[in-house]
Amino acid sequence: MISIVVPAYNEEEGIGLLYERVTSAAAAWHDDYEIVIVDDGSRDATLRLLTDIASADSRVKVLSFTRNFGHQAAVTAGLMHATGDIIAIIDADLQDPPEELDRFVKKCRDGYDVVYAIRARRKESAPKRAAYYLYYRLLRFLANIDIPLDSGDFCVISRRALNTLNALPERNRFVRGLRTWIGYRQIGIAYERHARATGAPKYTLRGLINLALDGVINFSYKPLRILGITGLVVGILALMAAAAFFVQFV
Ligand code: UDP
Ligand code: MG
Repeated sequence: MISIVVPAYNEEEGIGLLYERVTSAAAAWHDDYEIVIVDDGSRDATLRLLTDIASADSRVKVLSFTRNFGHQAAVTAGLMHATGDIIAIIDADLQDPPEELDRFVKKCRDGYDVVYAIRARRKESAPKRAAYYLYYRLLRFLANIDIPLDSGDFCVISRRALNTLNALPERNRFVRGLRTWIGYRQIGIAYERHARATGAPKYTLRGLINLALDGVINFSYKPLRILGITGLVVGILALMAAAAFFVQFV
């Protein structure tokens, strides 16, 4: 069975379309499937719409958060509840087209454990594209693992890779980093990232900055080392200054 994990926060305008697109894309997989949608404490009608969809289609499972915990927490919860042998993660806003999943699923069936999407082109504003471009390169420079450039959470993974991912004790999860860290056979597939089908981005600037910081802090000792070394150097300089002072006056 294939599980499609979808985090959703205030996606009332697009959630019906998402359901339709995933359902029609599913015909290509020739397999049983489930859609695990996590409502991340939406304040609009998302949860009600999801409950309606789920009551008409038993393949749709809905998880509901008590408040807004954030994208990564929603993805994590969805992954914990997915029961498939092949598991996909996609956004609710259709920026990652469900029709692309067919290629990913095939690679997974060919024996790859992690098939991640590489954003070949993004339809987003120039400043946002520039920020993402710089961030992924900085992350790569700082991180202790080779996190693939320009890959988000959009991916398909095998059951054994998911079991490993779910078993990690991390709480503040940067899923795309952990997904690289676990190893196994991994492959990237390029795709074109579309513009949002409906609505505005749900990530606030603060949310994006936190995600960026989680990525750097979780996967790099460098910031810690830089601070440590700076502390040591300042400490030594202070000792030398104190010694010079002492010598001068004694
Ligand atoms: N999302 C979420 N919780 C949040 C923010 C976003 O579950 O607090 C979901 C959102 O509904 C979407 C996905 O995470 O399915 C990506 O969010 P968004 O499209 O705002 O991010 P972007 O594509 O701009 O990086
Ligand atoms: Mg989006």
